[in-house]
Amino acid sequence: MNIVLLGAPGAGKGTQAAKLVEAYDIAHISTGDLLRAAVKAQTRLGLEAKSYMDAGELVPDSLVIGLVKERLQEPDTEKGFILDGFPRNSTQAVTLDAELSGLGREIDAAIAVIVNPEVIVNRLASRRVCRSCGYIGSAADASCPICAGEMYQRDDDRPETVRNRLDVYEKATAPLIDYYRGGELLVEVDGDRPVDEVFASIKAALA
Ligand code: AMP
Repeated sequence: MNIVLLGAPGAGKGTQAAKLVEAYDIAHISTGDLLRAAVKAQTRLGLEAKSYMDAGELVPDSLVIGLVKERLQEPDTEKGFILDGFPRNSTQAVTLDAELSGLGREIDAAIAVIVNPEVIVNRLASRRVCRSCGYIGSAADASCPICAGEMYQRDDDRPETVRNRLDVYEKATAPLIDYYRGGELLVEVDGDRPVDEVFASIKAALA
């Protein structure tokens, strides 16, 4: 199963992606994680991407599309994949379709996790991520409940940056909901509910 996961920053995409990966044994492709790894490793791409990420802007398509194309060549994606945070604009969506068709593959579903924008800023302000295993928790987690690793706040989860990320989402990414609706691939899920309820709705829609 090949899935695209759409939703505003803080909608819970990363959390749902982790559950989908476990349930369906598919590869997780998070462009945010790939970019953060490149920043950490101080690769040329990472150094170029960093200023955009810090400002809450989209990293240029030429950089992100290359990353995704490379990742899709890896054999673990053949059993299926979930794209988390990609595509984020129409150029990326169209390029993805073309790339997949060249590989003889296609998207089976686009899941849009819909949340009330008013709750997002607060949600992101309290989001904390495990430095070791990537577990997504909150400020209430003194250490990671999964691996006891250190929890940290992403630089771009600070309120000044979050507002810009939400604007970018509305302008560039939200229109993709219509793009996938047009292709009859769209599954809309109410994300303002407990994690397991959201996940149950996603699974029911994919069944
Ligand atoms: P995320 O972890 O998905 O919230 O992504 C964090 C940041 O990485 C975003 O705010 C962007 O700066 C950048 N980013 C992630 N995915 C993409 C993408 N598909 N296109 C452009 N920039 C991206």
